Amino acid sequence: MRKIEKLSISEKTTDYLEKRKKEAKKFNLNKKARKEIISKLKSSQKDLCCYCECRINYKNQHIEHFFEQKTHKDLIFDYPNNLFLSCEGEPETEQEQKNRKQNITCGHKKSNVNLENVNYVLLINPQKIEKILFLYLENGKIEASKQCNEQEEKKVNYSIKRLNLDCEKLERNRREAIFRIGKELFILSIMEQKNYIRMLLNENNDEFPAFYSAIKDNFGFIINI
Ligand SMILES: [Zn+2]
Repeated sequence: MRKIEKLSISEKTTDYLEKRKKEAKKFNLNKKARKEIISKLKSSQKDLCCYCECRINYKNQHIEHFFEQKTHKDLIFDYPNNLFLSCEGEPETEQEQKNRKQNITCGHKKSNVNLENVNYVLLINPQKIEKILFLYLENGKIEASKQCNEQEEKKVNYSIKRLNLDCEKLERNRREAIFRIGKELFILSIMEQKNYIRMLLNENNDEFPAFYSAIKDNFGFIINI
């Protein structure tokens, strides 16, 4: 999970959301506002899910309420503070599908009705990340960064569990993303490796590769060799 800086939306859509807040109890938007909000979130998030950093696209995304709609009604239409784009979190392999409930991730895992209410003291808000909190290992595993203090470690562990960021599917996908890049680097000179990683991790890119933070944790050091 990486820090998200949200791009602002047009005045027209801001007014529309304000109006919706007064008149609607449930989250639904007209086509135009929905399109703009999705597009702004997608750009803000560099095309990655706000929690797991898989690539999002029109088939695998939903507008996510960080603060759940049922407990935070005043924030249902709050773009700057509460809306993100999350992946659908669906399991991929047949084996994972069999155990769908255990393998679902991100926004849809968080809002699972069978779980107790979200603890917002512990759940990490992607907009409020001020330092490196997560560490992504070469084997695809995720854990608290060595820089975390005790409370931050607690938050990281809670967030990993609540969003299911350590499920088999995500560990496998991160492992594969790291392996693929490792393989590509293998045939390059040090100079080419540096350029390749610099290009891949360039913060100014409009889109990031899937599992950007895992790639950064495992290959970012190459830039400084
Ligand atoms: Zn996700």
